[in-house]
Amino acid sequence: MERKLRPINFEICQGKRFVGNEKDERAFGKAAAPFVAMLRDLPHKNLPYEFYLDNLFTSIQLFNFLRINGYSGTGTIRHNRIPKQCPLKSKAELKKAPRGTFDHCIAKDVGIILARWVDNSIVTAASTSYGVQPTCNLKRYSQSDKKVIEVPRPNLIGQYNNFMGGTDQMDENLGRYRISIRGKKWRWCIFTWMIDVAIINSWILRRKSMGVHSEQLSFRRDMAQTYLRKYGVMPKVGGRPPTDRNSISCNRVADDVRYDEMNHLLVHTPNKKRRRCAGEGCISSVRTMCSKCNVGLCIDCNQIFHTL
Ligand SMILES: [Zn+2]
Ligand SMILES: [Zn+2]
Repeated sequence: MERKLRPINFEICQGKRFVGNEKDERAFGKAAAPFVAMLRDLPHKNLPYEFYLDNLFTSIQLFNFLRINGYSGTGTIRHNRIPKQCPLKSKAELKKAPRGTFDHCIAKDVGIILARWVDNSIVTAASTSYGVQPTCNLKRYSQSDKKVIEVPRPNLIGQYNNFMGGTDQMDENLGRYRISIRGKKWRWCIFTWMIDVAIINSWILRRKSMGVHSEQLSFRRDMAQTYLRKYGVMPKVGGRPPTDRNSISCNRVADDVRYDEMNHLLVHTPNKKRRRCAGEGCISSVRTMCSKCNVGLCIDCNQIFHTL
């Protein structure tokens, strides 16, 4: 399964000086209080976000908060945070049971399901949106039977395993083509980090919305070229004109832009200077251009140029 997770909010760690919301800290714990504050900060409420949390954050209070606010939560939970009205079989009891055994319980008053499952170790998880069914069979090597056996896994734990680790995934994506800048000021790193995150978000959204597979590098190239074409100024240099190989091709318009059927307006060239028409096979020299693609175009070529 391809995972398309993306960050929606962040907070810069301010160390011990940060004064959190005391009421939240009492209700959700020190670790989860900043997370609740970040959710409250979101400009759009009730978007159907699904959150996957590890046992540092998960608590019944937090999951109840998520559920009331239209979000869903799934995560591993610490033993001492399991509510008393949810008696799951104890770890000691389950340790004797074969792998794949699980027990579950529903906290009816808050609509949260809890499950405890025996794998290599014993895992306890909670969810506001996934139950234990449908289980999925995993292949595990059994030492005692000396063969591969099938071990059923409850759905909420499967979902957790599939989607946990979004921050690590983002760090991995960020690390690949990070913007490097030679400034000495520490705040530059925060600034470029935010741009990098925005780029990665748009890359993921593009793949998600258009169902296209594109590499991050080619996405970044297309984006840089688009901005250069729109806002860049080519230096006036003497000598031989640059060849295709060593210059950013100014006349090549990224296909994503060229065929997006949005705001391609035929306008006058700046100062009504003549430009060569970019239409294929056209030799006209014209005073009209596409305002978005930033290429000269005659009226005849305009439509053909923008049609796949
Ligand atoms: Zn255009
Ligand atoms: Zn033309």
